[in-house]
Amino acid sequence: STTVGVLALQGDVREHERVLQDLGADVIRVRRPEELAQVAGLVIPGGESSVIDKLSRLFGLQHPIRDAILDGMPVLGTCAGLIMLADTVVDAIDGQQSFGGLDVVVRRNAFGRQVESFEADLIVSGMDDGPVHAAFIRGPVIDYVGPNADALASLDDGRIVAVAQGNLIGLSFHPEITGETRFHERLLALVAAEH
Ligand code: GLN
Repeated sequence: STTVGVLALQGDVREHERVLQDLGADVIRVRRPEELAQVAGLVIPGGESSVIDKLSRLFGLQHPIRDAILDGMPVLGTCAGLIMLADTVVDAIDGQQSFGGLDVVVRRNAFGRQVESFEADLIVSGMDDGPVHAAFIRGPVIDYVGPNADALASLDDGRIVAVAQGNLIGLSFHPEITGETRFHERLLALVAAEH
């Protein structure tokens, strides 16, 4: 199947579902392992990573998602979703775990509080058709990119905010609320390439 899923434990599930549907994808919400088994790609939305982590373990999804990532399933993680994909999380809440997969170190809440949210235009590697208008809402910064991952975009001050590794894409910001669809298109292209 080429159905894609949105991890629907917590966060801005509906916005991602909407973008994917508008791109013509078959989309389901993933809350249980049975639903994960039906999808060929996954979006992990923004929200609160410590909550997504807790619920993923409670719902028996942590190990199936880790296995799917190791298996090469395409995954797009935004904001809290990037934190869930990071191999190492700095300033995590006590006991917080990630799924991992991206050879990066991310720092939670590195841009400060909700009121310090901002928007920026980013040049993204591989997207030559114009900058990405990105919304940053208590997002993580990518402090370190290991040899297995590639930085895709940085802010003017050099802080890295987008990264990719194989079939994984991680973003510090929210593309789904500024009308930006190219990362979701990239996810769907990765899914199509696997099938
Ligand atoms: N601060 C949140 C976290 O730690 C991420 C914020 C977001 O996803 N917009 O998970």
